[in-house]
Amino acid sequence: MWIKVCSRVKSRSSRWHRKRTDCFQTLLLLSTRGPTGRFLELWSYSKLLLKSLYFNSLSNSDTLLDCAFEPVYWIVDNVTRWFGVVFVTLVILLTTSVVVIIYLFVLPTILSAYPLHWVVWHLCCGHWLLVMVVFHYYKATTTSPGHPPKDKVHIPSVSICKKCITPKPARTHHCSICNTCVLKMDHHCPWLNNCVGHFNHRYFFSFCLYMTLGCIYCSISSRELFLEAYSAIESYYMTPPPMETLRETTAHKCIIFLWVLTSSVAVALGGLTLWHVILISRGETSVERHINRKETRRLREKGKVFRNPYHHGNMNNWKLLLGVEKRSHWFTRVLLPSSHLPNGDGIMWDWTFSRRDPMAI
Ligand SMILES: [Zn+2]
Ligand SMILES: [Zn+2]
Repeated sequence: MWIKVCSRVKSRSSRWHRKRTDCFQTLLLLSTRGPTGRFLELWSYSKLLLKSLYFNSLSNSDTLLDCAFEPVYWIVDNVTRWFGVVFVTLVILLTTSVVVIIYLFVLPTILSAYPLHWVVWHLCCGHWLLVMVVFHYYKATTTSPGHPPKDKVHIPSVSICKKCITPKPARTHHCSICNTCVLKMDHHCPWLNNCVGHFNHRYFFSFCLYMTLGCIYCSISSRELFLEAYSAIESYYMTPPPMETLRETTAHKCIIFLWVLTSSVAVALGGLTLWHVILISRGETSVERHINRKETRRLREKGKVFRNPYHHGNMNNWKLLLGVEKRSHWFTRVLLPSSHLPNGDGIMWDWTFSRRDPMAI
């Protein structure tokens, strides 16, 4: 049995000699002590046996914690994946309800009460925002963010993914929800049920921007109607209650729902859009923000200054993300729906300079 235990330690460990010595020492003690001593020795031997079963020279406390939390990660990843479908359905249903309320209750008021030039402006602006929101949401959910090629081994990479066992190019990160590596990964978005990466980053940002603008537009356009509807709803509780038709009551409730929803989304999504404006201006993704913050702190302690190698200047960062190569592209590629591909393949990256010290990825 002792030989069996020791041979097991040998197969699992690069520090086999030390473990084997421990085994033989325990064996020696077992044969020379009394009953109490024997119990303690058996206890220490059991501990050694247990350690030998999972010993690995590469394991550390992080690996053990990861293993212990593996079932929790599995549940969180699967729940997020399932919630993605629910969230996408919610976005479609709520957007549709807002559009229907606008067509049924807000647009007739605009057509009947506003002068012609305001009617034309509302029709053009409202429909342009609607087209941009629908187009960018559809593209952001259906476009693959891009993955490193699995069949090619010789690609420029900075590390190996522990989960996919494939080379990881610069800016690539593993998404545990999609269970694959994503090129220039920004984050996994449950509202899109998709990862935001190299090939759909522009669609994601444009969707956030146009959705925020659309919500601001709806909120401002329906503000007067909302105030009317709010005072009308308050008067329901007066005695005697005012005579209201079913259509009027429904209209009041729908307009209150529309204003509250669009105003809240405008504030929440506006904040998120603003955060992404800052990130894009700095030439960073959401994942890189965390890494770069750590690097800044690490280098500051060494008396050095961190510089982001993917920062090409504020305006150039925007041009790279939006695919603007000439002046007319601001109109055709940014203000109108466009399916053009982003710059580069997401594997090779233009660095503004080469780093001398290795960076944590
Ligand atoms: Zn991976
Ligand atoms: Zn993902």
